[in-house]
Amino acid sequence: MAYDWDRLSVPPSLRWFEQKWSRRSDPYCLSGVWRFHELLPFVPVEACVTVGEGQTLLQAADAVAKYAGLSAGRLFLQYEGMNPSGSFKDNGMSAAFSHARFVGASRAACASTGNTSASLALYCSVTKLMRAVIFVGSGKIAYGKLSQALDYGALTVQITGDFDDAMARVKEVSKQLGIYLVNSVNPFRLEGQKTIMFRVLESLRWEVPDWIVVPGGNLGNSSAFGKAFMELKQLGLIDRIPRLAIVNAAGANTLNRLVGTSGLRWNGGRTDPHLVKKFYEEMDAEGRRAATIASAIEINRPVNLEKCLRALDVCDGVVREATDQEILDAKAQVGAGGIGCEPASAASVAGTKRLVDEGVIGRDQRVVCILTGHQLKDPTATVAYHTTDQQLFNDVLGKRGVRRAAFANRAVVVPNDLGEIVKAIELYS
Ligand SMILES: *Cc1c(COP(=O)(O)O)cnc(C)c1O
Repeated sequence: MAYDWDRLSVPPSLRWFEQKWSRRSDPYCLSGVWRFHELLPFVPVEACVTVGEGQTLLQAADAVAKYAGLSAGRLFLQYEGMNPSGSFKDNGMSAAFSHARFVGASRAACASTGNTSASLALYCSVTKLMRAVIFVGSGKIAYGKLSQALDYGALTVQITGDFDDAMARVKEVSKQLGIYLVNSVNPFRLEGQKTIMFRVLESLRWEVPDWIVVPGGNLGNSSAFGKAFMELKQLGLIDRIPRLAIVNAAGANTLNRLVGTSGLRWNGGRTDPHLVKKFYEEMDAEGRRAATIASAIEINRPVNLEKCLRALDVCDGVVREATDQEILDAKAQVGAGGIGCEPASAASVAGTKRLVDEGVIGRDQRVVCILTGHQLKDPTATVAYHTTDQQLFNDVLGKRGVRRAAFANRAVVVPNDLGEIVKAIELYS
């Protein structure tokens, strides 16, 4: 989606947006998405829908910096879990939802690994403007996310299969029934997600960091970030573009294989469709399916692959993968040194550590890791990591090749006896 900026009124500088801070009683100035409306003006601002999304925080996290091998003060965590539905998806949903309403839709649908459906369900329940229809794969959704969709009253269709199966079906169904599709194939979602980068810059007082590190699932975020920086540069609102690192889970590494191993590139828009087709054919022939504890990025066929290649090109980007072991260890570090996140989000920190180890990211470079989802989204994974129950550990994590929980904070088991309890507290605190 391209704007004719010459015919729009573009702010003279990013600092210009600061005037909106003093107008926080206006919901469009409070919204962390719509206060940047001038940079995503696809519908008039008064037609936009907001539920207060984008009240997020960028926080320096020195304990996590140390873990990743960076100097103090150089690693920042962007907490997108602070959004109303607990993930960054609200940024894109407010935009897609606004467009859906603008075109008069009465129902909206999505396939989801959980957070998109939670977000859509929330926008529908708060605004009552549309009915949510969500598709989930069986056994593939973390309870925190499923519970949201159910609580918010979405029509929840559970099909046998995984995210990719649900995605294929929801496309057919929306076409047949004329339901508005809000998956990240929807370009307006990406417009909303650009604002994550605007808020990162805002928090850094409009200074551009050296690196943005983001988990890669359907690649909507990475595509949106690339577009955001491309446009800001084109409009003369920034003078340089940060580098982008996209981190797959090792068990869902389509992008890393295509870019890292097969050498797939943007190539000025002439990407190689045969390479991608062959890759998917082999994947199907071998019966390879995505499998990772980071369920939000457990995806075989990322829908924004093409756009993501452009983002890698624009941002001189790199792709890496992180094992479930690395992801969970990184997640424990994030939890111990900050507000916390769900497993998929921690791929950004695990990937940062790898890139610092490799010398690709310098110790003193300024790095922003996007924490895409809230700590409470997937309590099962967290409890299994910290548990003393070997059976639980094996059932949830052992089967995924996780061998140890190096940063586990184990509960202390004590008989219900005052003397014993006092003794235990003295011993461990
Ligand atoms: C959706 C999601 C992702 C993946 O983001 P993409 O834009 O699809 O790459 C990562 N983490 C969380 C928590 C998510 O909900």
